Amino acid sequence: MDSDTIFFQEILEKRTEDVIMSCVKSIWAVAELRLVAILMKKQSKSGIGESKMTKLLSRDEFRESVFVRDRYKCIFCGKSAEDTPEGKLDAHHIIERRLWSDGGYYLDNGATVCEEHHLLCEQTILSVEDVRMAAGISNVIVPDQFYPEQRIDKWGNYILEDGTRTRGELFFDESVQKVLSSGEVLRDFVPYMKYGRTFHLPFSPGIHDDDKALKDCSHFEGKHVVITKKMDGENTTCYSDGHIHARSIDSRGGEDRAWVKKFLSENVCFNLPEGWRVCGENLWAEHSIRYENLDSYFLGFSIWNEKNECLSWDETLEYFELLGITPVPVLWEGIWISKHMTSIHVDLGLDFEKDEGYVVRLADSFHIKDFKSSVAKYVRKNHVQTTKHWRAGQRFVPNLLKT
Ligand SMILES: [Zn+2]
Repeated sequence: MDSDTIFFQEILEKRTEDVIMSCVKSIWAVAELRLVAILMKKQSKSGIGESKMTKLLSRDEFRESVFVRDRYKCIFCGKSAEDTPEGKLDAHHIIERRLWSDGGYYLDNGATVCEEHHLLCEQTILSVEDVRMAAGISNVIVPDQFYPEQRIDKWGNYILEDGTRTRGELFFDESVQKVLSSGEVLRDFVPYMKYGRTFHLPFSPGIHDDDKALKDCSHFEGKHVVITKKMDGENTTCYSDGHIHARSIDSRGGEDRAWVKKFLSENVCFNLPEGWRVCGENLWAEHSIRYENLDSYFLGFSIWNEKNECLSWDETLEYFELLGITPVPVLWEGIWISKHMTSIHVDLGLDFEKDEGYVVRLADSFHIKDFKSSVAKYVRKNHVQTTKHWRAGQRFVPNLLKT
């Protein structure tokens, strides 16, 4: 062969090699895309139902599917494992694992990150929205105790419209304090807490599509519980520093809030030990139920200490007495035996023309982390929720006090 032939043959061989390589690459890319498509399909199938919750994965499945979806690259900087000093990438939980009752191993709760970006996510300098966007996740999933429309950070602290945050159930955890402090974001926090989301009892007739219900009553079984009347007003919290807010933590004051604000500021706030808060129902304005015989426009239902523990019911009553707070009416107290409880609303004499339902809580004290398994509600069928939309342009009709 002359040199030209050799030259062209070499080029041809090289070309063939390139073509083969690029074919292999395309086949690999197609296979990868297919795998992603299959995973997505699997997810959307299992997502049919009351929420867009995707399929719960095992820890290993979670890692693997998160890496595959993100093509084994940090979603922020595109580094692969070999590009990082430790030679590894992490499958990051967008919303902290401990906030989920099932561990939160859902594909839509995961993202591939290098160490540097992992830290920024944990420090909440990169928000959960940043992570979802970078990973191309449009299906927002959050643990049951949160409302999907309310912004939270990775650790379950609520983010308010002005960018400040309220303390969530993990706020005081040592590891969380450490990472938030290293990110210098602790200054964004106000010392307040949103009142937790109360789950329905499994047999509560008033469950709506967007409500959350306990799967069973095992948390109450054999325990001493207190059942109080569920009052139809506005959930209100006041603090030892004088701050008072409704569930939504907005600071707007209306005539419907004036009575309760005055009462709490004058009698309660500054008599509380430091860091404590009292939660109760503001019943000044008529919502879905009319009250004409109230002992007070503010009926208290819980007291929380500086460690975020809800006081036992007995201790709560002692403090209520000292502070001049009328408690919500107690309907029943005793040992919870599930099979006897499904019809207790009948024994309690609840009249669903006039009563919304009842709330059950453990008589003992409990930590806020256990709120969802320590308090639950039973709500009448077709009860109209008067939440945020209720206030807009509404003329308030006052309920009446006992004469
Ligand atoms: Zn990165």
